[in-house]
Amino acid sequence: MKVLIIGSGGREHAIAWKVAQSPKVDKIYCAPGNAGIAEYAQCVDIKAMEFEKLAAFAKENAIDLTVVGMDDPLVGGVVDVFEKEGLRVFGPRKNAAILEGSKAFSKDLMKKYNIPTAAYENFENAEDALKYLREKAEFPIVLKADGLALGKGVLICNTLEEAEEGVKTIMLDKKFGSAGNTLVVEEFMTGREVSVLSFVDGKTIKTMTSAQDHKRAQDGDQGLNTGGMGTFSPSPFYTKEVDEFCEKYVYQATVDAMASEGREFKGIIFFGLMLTEKGPKVLEYNARFGDPEAQVVIPRLKNDIVDVFEACVDGRLDEIDLQFEDNAAVCVVLASDGYPVSYEKGFPIKGLDTFKDKDGYYVFHAGTAFKDGQIVTNGGRVLGVTAKGADLKEARANAYKAVEWISFDNKYMRNDIGKAIDEA
Ligand code: ATP
Repeated sequence: MKVLIIGSGGREHAIAWKVAQSPKVDKIYCAPGNAGIAEYAQCVDIKAMEFEKLAAFAKENAIDLTVVGMDDPLVGGVVDVFEKEGLRVFGPRKNAAILEGSKAFSKDLMKKYNIPTAAYENFENAEDALKYLREKAEFPIVLKADGLALGKGVLICNTLEEAEEGVKTIMLDKKFGSAGNTLVVEEFMTGREVSVLSFVDGKTIKTMTSAQDHKRAQDGDQGLNTGGMGTFSPSPFYTKEVDEFCEKYVYQATVDAMASEGREFKGIIFFGLMLTEKGPKVLEYNARFGDPEAQVVIPRLKNDIVDVFEACVDGRLDEIDLQFEDNAAVCVVLASDGYPVSYEKGFPIKGLDTFKDKDGYYVFHAGTAFKDGQIVTNGGRVLGVTAKGADLKEARANAYKAVEWISFDNKYMRNDIGKAIDEA
């Protein structure tokens, strides 16, 4: 069969790598793809938001299954466009992708269906938000732009002054555009964060192995928030008790809630959880694989991923016995120095071939391009280096060994990915 993947990051590289292992698949396309994905897929020069062009390409090339990796096209309704053309596609429709696309929606859903999450209020105008903050809020408090903001629309405010400034930034200055038309003001929680990805077919949900990411740019969780500087899987803090609690109150409850609202969810639900003193609470939902969580979870998946995608599309996920390897994986992101603020691009990358034929070591491309016959840096996050090991400590040692195989000018990474493992 022929598969089309939509996206261009390390996540889509991991998906393409796994899809390429399926005996069912003869040909993979990726739109727009990147220099690493090109090893497994024919990259197609169509952007992820060009829905009509993508659907026309899928029809012309008799694509059997399209897999959408990114949030923007999902929230924008790419799945609806494909379905209207009678094309098979893995991912939630627009009315379900709202689970990620609107934080106000997801908070209201959790409240209505008693899914544990932080207390909150939604505001449509700045005046009401300011009045609430001045009269009722306790600090620190969290302000969130309702819509997609590349992970940057969340402000943790320690004082009323900071919160007033935050309301101005989000709602009046519109720093995140229309994503800030509605504001969610949320109770500040403390605890460890864990990510749990899941496959969903509308009714049935099967969770994957847990993972934990590192969002901040610098060691010790200092510096600015980024798209993610590294991940490890499984999380030692995701205990049996936490799993049982979430199975009972979070996972199926979310899928059932969406179905009850007439918003049947098919695809990936990413649960961002905080393990608070009062038990696990949902921080956020995403409607797709996390990036770089995908780079540690997918390499540990034993199943043929195409079987799982198809089972979700067909509503028969209950037939799939989802299995993960009993080991661990760590991914260290190699970035361009200066990310996430400003950085130079276009430097040749050396050492990529070292990963070929090395079992348990992977290099997933995020921001790379071909230039004059070689692969060069082309983004803030350049590569994700993943290594497996029998346990987390071994996987971390292997990942930090493998990052030395790669060199490029202005290479930057965190040196403490997975350090939390030592505290477990
Ligand atoms: P992503 O980049 O994962 O899509 P996002 O913009 O959707 O992020 P959230 O995941 O909701 O935003 O929040 C980003 C980060 O802010 C969280 O990972 C967490 O560290 C912190 N955070 C969010 N909500 C709270 C809260 N209520 N209390 C404490 N910290 C919070």
